[in-house]
Amino acid sequence: MPAGAFEQRIGGPLTAAGIEVLQVNVGDRCNLSCRHCHVGAGPAGTRVMPRAILERCLAVLRASAIPAVDVTGGAPELHPDIRWFLRECAAPGRRVTVRSNFAVLLEEGCRDLPDLYADLRVELVTSLPSWDEEHTDRQRGAGVFRKVVTVMRQLNERGYGAPGSGLVLDVVHNPIGAYLPGCQAALERQYRESLGARQGVLFNRLRCITNMPIGRFLDFLRRTENRDEYLGTLEASFNPATLQSVMCRSMVSVGWDGTLYDCDFNQVLRLPIDHGAPASILAFDHERLRRRRITVGDHCFGCTAGPGSSCQGQAAAGR
Ligand code: SF4
Ligand code: SF4
Repeated sequence: MPAGAFEQRIGGPLTAAGIEVLQVNVGDRCNLSCRHCHVGAGPAGTRVMPRAILERCLAVLRASAIPAVDVTGGAPELHPDIRWFLRECAAPGRRVTVRSNFAVLLEEGCRDLPDLYADLRVELVTSLPSWDEEHTDRQRGAGVFRKVVTVMRQLNERGYGAPGSGLVLDVVHNPIGAYLPGCQAALERQYRESLGARQGVLFNRLRCITNMPIGRFLDFLRRTENRDEYLGTLEASFNPATLQSVMCRSMVSVGWDGTLYDCDFNQVLRLPIDHGAPASILAFDHERLRRRRITVGDHCFGCTAGPGSSCQGQAAAGR
């Protein structure tokens, strides 16, 4: 693929259309080491967002009208200041989301968090690559499927996933191999049937996410000699309708050290915000960031393939 292929394909630069979400990546420590992990997190992770950067994120949220904060990692629960940070984030009218692997909530020192999440009405998003135990465990590690289901039950008991409770529990699906996800609506029906009927657990929405050709998944593509074919599939599946809703157009993502990125995929690739907009939380400038030019690369074809993919799931309307 020639340099600049993505901008050529979309006919010019991609630009932001506001800031609806401040995503905060609190570090790369995780209790799991999933095969598809694009941030390369695991138990040996050493990056921990300093308290001063967390305070700066809170100052930005207080000073701006950004309506949502999205906390991710690693496993955010393993950050020593996570309870304080979530309490400070949870202001009236602001949506707070935590991306949790759920298995961590069974670990010593984290078992209080389901109650805190419910008290603060935090929205929860968890990854469950498949409704099938064996498939999920192959990607996330032995026994993880059971642990996730156990925690989903605990959260259901607190009201999460129950119609009308307002306590949101969404599940993320991503393919197990080097292919695009299927239709989100059909997969959601399958998950609901399987998790509901067989496991007795509730969730609100399934989000389908394309595996991005970066991090551990890129290593997998290289090992299996599938890299070029997968990148070719992504580019050939380019769908212009997805450009309205790729997440970078409405998000700023903060790295563990306070560097600003257009999305967490760019974080992994160490491609900070560029083109004259500030690239540090210490120099956050809402006006300049909300209409910045986005730093793109070939990996962006992962967000625009087929029905599209973002943190919110498939992106193009009507898919
Ligand atoms: S995918 Fe999530 S749960 Fe798995 S290792 Fe990465 S950060 Fe941890
Ligand atoms: S990877 Fe996706 S979200 Fe990130 S800059 Fe590219 S298109 Fe935007």
